[in-house]
Amino acid sequence: MTPNRFAIFQGEIVSIEMAQISIMSHIVNYGTGCFGGIRGYWNEGEQQLLVFRPLDHFKRLRQSARMLLIQLPLNEQQLTDQLLELIRREEYHQDVYARPLAFKNSPLIGVRLHNLEDAYACFAVPFGRYLEKEEGLRATVSSWRRIDDNVVPARGKIIGSYVNSAFAKSEAQLNGFDEAIVLTAGGHIAEGSAENIFLLRDGKLVTPPITDNILEGITRKTIIQLAKEQLGIDTVERSIDRSELYVADEAFFTGTGCQVAAIVEVDRRPIGEGVMGPTVEKLREVFFKTVRGEIPCYREWCTPVYSR
Ligand code: PMP
Repeated sequence: MTPNRFAIFQGEIVSIEMAQISIMSHIVNYGTGCFGGIRGYWNEGEQQLLVFRPLDHFKRLRQSARMLLIQLPLNEQQLTDQLLELIRREEYHQDVYARPLAFKNSPLIGVRLHNLEDAYACFAVPFGRYLEKEEGLRATVSSWRRIDDNVVPARGKIIGSYVNSAFAKSEAQLNGFDEAIVLTAGGHIAEGSAENIFLLRDGKLVTPPITDNILEGITRKTIIQLAKEQLGIDTVERSIDRSELYVADEAFFTGTGCQVAAIVEVDRRPIGEGVMGPTVEKLREVFFKTVRGEIPCYREWCTPVYSR
């Protein structure tokens, strides 16, 4: 039994049991698809569910799809409206996570991107934490390198490329750490297995540039803006050496899944005092207020599900 009852499939909201693909589907055989991950936050006071930056998420999905020669069936606004309708049908009154998928669905043998049938699907499930220890993660630098833009673009949220993330994550966890930090082929810090990364050095945030094989994270963008506007902290986007992790004052991951998660240790070396630093703590506070719609100037990022 899945926690959800419905899905968007072939243009309609259907029962989850009806949303099935063949074992011969291209996506199953070759990983030729892309996906998104969108959170909805329950606001108890307003009795309202607020979906965070859905248009930005669907814009990125469209860009990933474009790289894979996948045509999305609807525009960003229509995909958002359809997602809101799905969540209403599920009657969720709690935090949720939505997973849109766009993929090649032709039942045939032959690896390519062109002349194949496209499909779009989406489901939404109740969701809490993605990483258990958001207040204090122990991370390690992975022996696996991040895929290069000329191998499979990390800028796209491409299904097949998450095997790279899975290698890194399992290596880290099987070695007793909570999360992996992956380097580019050139040896600079790229990101976590499914998170962007930030360091705090000398009062400034530092994060890898989008040309260092990272996903163009929506939480990353949000945090850069919130740090500046709410805490007066600038972010420098530049390549980061591995050893800078060891000497950082603070470090954290950002992502729709992990939200804003403190890194307190890297490769068994404590970051700062080895506990969540004050800047990460403040950013988490501002972030959670923002996503629950409690800061009026960012309210436009929060799309209400129910009419009131
Ligand atoms: N990097 C990777 C590899 C990811 O999978 C994710 C999660 N989507 C992120 C970064 C964070 O992106 P976002 O903030 O848009 O969720």
